[in-house]
This record gives sequence, C-alpha cells and structure tokens, in this order.
Amino acid sequence: MKKHNFSAGPCILPDEVLKKASEAVLNFNGDNLSLIEISHRSPSFVAVIETAKQLVLELLNLEGKGYKVLFLQGGASMQFLMTAYNLLNKKAAYLNTGTWADKAIKEAKLFGELHEVASSKEANFNYIPKDFEIPEDVDYFHCTSNNTIFGTQMMTFPKFNGVTVCDMSSDIFSRQLDFSQFDLIYAGAQKNMGPAGTTLVVVKEAILGKVDRVIPSMMNYKVHIEKESMFNTPSVFAVYVSMLNLQWLKKLGGIAFIEKVNKKKAALLYNEIDRNPLFKGLVAKEDRSTMNATFTLTDPDLQRDFDTRCAAAGISGINGHRSVGGYRASMYNALPLHSVQVLVDVMKDLELSK
Ligand code: PMP
Repeated sequence: MKKHNFSAGPCILPDEVLKKASEAVLNFNGDNLSLIEISHRSPSFVAVIETAKQLVLELLNLEGKGYKVLFLQGGASMQFLMTAYNLLNKKAAYLNTGTWADKAIKEAKLFGELHEVASSKEANFNYIPKDFEIPEDVDYFHCTSNNTIFGTQMMTFPKFNGVTVCDMSSDIFSRQLDFSQFDLIYAGAQKNMGPAGTTLVVVKEAILGKVDRVIPSMMNYKVHIEKESMFNTPSVFAVYVSMLNLQWLKKLGGIAFIEKVNKKKAALLYNEIDRNPLFKGLVAKEDRSTMNATFTLTDPDLQRDFDTRCAAAGISGINGHRSVGGYRASMYNALPLHSVQVLVDVMKDLELSK
C-alpha cells in the first residue's frame, strides 16, 4: 500500500498523474516512442509545453493580462539571481521571512543595493513581519509567499505600486489570490506542480528590459520568452508531468476547489496540535502555513514511541528540517485528507497510551 507522503519536496503527486507519466515513459501518445527519447521540438512535445503554459495562465487567472509563462531550469535557487540580474538596477527591497528569502537576498546583493524591509530572523523565522514600509525608489519588492522550512505563510501582501516579485515555490496553485498583484512569480516545480527539474516563471513582459547591464542569454528572461522556453533543451519529463498535474487540478475544480480541501486538511491537523497536550506548534498561530505544519512533542522522550507509531501507520516524511527540529507535515495539493486523518489518529493514540 502506498505510504502517506508528508514530504516537503519533492513531494506527493496524484496517483493518476504518476500512472500516466510512467506510461508515457514507455510509449508516448501511442507513437511507440518514449516521451524522453523524442525531440523537444517535435509537434507532440511542443503541444505539451504550450498546453502547460496555457493551464498555468488559466488556473492563475492571468490570461490576457500581459504575462508570459516560462519553464526554465536551475530550480528556484537560480531565480534568486535571475530576478536580480534582470530587474535590479540600483536598489531592491526584500522581506526576510526564512532561509529561502535569506538566500535570495544573498544573491541579489551581488547586483545592487539591498534594503531589507523587515526580518524575523531573530526569532528563527517563526512569524511573518507585518508592519513595514517599502521605499518608493526601489526597482522591485521581493517576498516569499510560503516559508517551507519554518511553516509560515503570508496571508496578505503589502500594497505596493512598484514591481512585486514573489517566490511561490511551496504554495503556488494551493490558494486563491489576486495573482495579478505580482509582476513576476517563480516556483520550483517539485511541490504543487510536478517533479524536480523545471522551474515555473510567470512574468509580466512590460517589466523587462529596464536594467543597464548586459545579461547572459541563459539568464535573460527576454531570450527565454523569445525562444518560447526552448533556448536550450527544456526538461521534457518534468514539463510533461507538470502538464498532467495541472490538468488534474483543473479537472478537480481548479484552485477554488483545492483551496477548500487544503483548508480542511490544515484545520484538522492544527486543531489536534492545539488540543493534544503532547504536541505544540512552532510558529505564530495567525501565520501558520496550510502547506507545511511544524510542531514538536512537549516531552522529547516520547519521540521514539511517536516515530514508531508513525512508521507503523505508513506515515512518511514528517521529520522537521534540520534547522528547526521537531516535525513538519507537508500537506501539498495531492495529499488526501485521509492521510492527515491517519496522522491525527496516531497523535490521539499516543495521548491515550500515556
Ligand atoms: N524557495 C522556496 C520557498 C523553497 O521551498 C525552495 C526549496 N524547497 C526553494 C526556494 C529552492 O528551490 P530549488 O531547490 O528548486 O532551487
């Protein structure tokens, strides 16, 4: 039986997507060729990438609003520097809400002056700073919508008239937002979109071409737009599985539907964390992520017992990140409500056994 996969990423994907993907590896479209042995320029694959781009715009409600969709490589980590390469002329503003935001800041510092509008580093990033101002003279403001490691999520976004860039690696396609408030969104695929190996970039074309520096081709969004994500060989398998996953999401009812499921899953787990005296949450309640719930045992001596019970119930991937400790249950789109119920039942059983 398949395990209950709470892994933080790469993470669970829907069974039907995995099945179709494995079939395509052997025989794609009934052509008697594998998906991964055909040309990326073949009509069959061009149709895949174009369908995936269209689904992204449709699901994010960004059709006809001047955005381009790119499937690049190098992970979200490459976007830390690519965003700065393409957008930072003099000064940029960053909100520091976690390890990933911190890494983005480090890269951007190579390209210009950095203004950290706020940071929760002093509290090991266990909350989202809220009262801050974004200077008007910056080239862009950068934020991270969901803090995968510590388990916090931005519930609101600051009103800012300038360019807004958002790293949505760990919560894209999970909740309804006005996505047009962002001028550039990026996300590594390996959470809510598909397998590792491709990175989604959704960018408003009008913000590009405004920096003075020469941008190497591979780093240049304009080049990738012009070449329709085929400047170099795209990650065909990752793009194909992303397309299947986006089709799965659309068929279910899109982001509006999955948001409701995600809220139910999060409520179920957080209610148990708060109710059960053997557990406690690790971050500010109002900032708790619906994607990554971090918690710990109130008595560290129970760890072995809890871990054994989790393993026996088929629960996988709930160890906390090394910089936080405790547990982290990631509840991405493809994780069924039932898996969360299994985890909650194990937490209850532990309590009853004491
Ligand atoms: N940003 C966030 C919010 C992440 O969660 C991660 C990876 N977990 C990254 C960036 C880095 O992504 P990648 O490994 O694709 O470079």
